Amino acid sequence: MAASTMFTCVCGVQKKTSNHWVLAKITRNGVLFLPWDWTLAVSDDIIVLCGERCSVALLSKHLGEWKQAALSNTALEPCPAID
Ligand SMILES: [Zn+2]
Repeated sequence: MAASTMFTCVCGVQKKTSNHWVLAKITRNGVLFLPWDWTLAVSDDIIVLCGERCSVALLSKHLGEWKQAALSNTALEPCPAID
């Protein structure tokens, strides 16, 4: 793996080897959080996050968007409960 590859979090922090970074992927159905993986991290559709704080921030942002979507789609049937 190229050591020169730089990863920058949405907050502007650049990855160092000791950081506990995580990955996130926006999918059609929501947000998927993944443990750090160098191979995945270079993918165009992967968001690199410097840690829990930025992961929570990303999650909060999407929860807000989902809430807005839910309010504008009140005619939709509620999802059946998962046993
Ligand atoms: Zn960050």
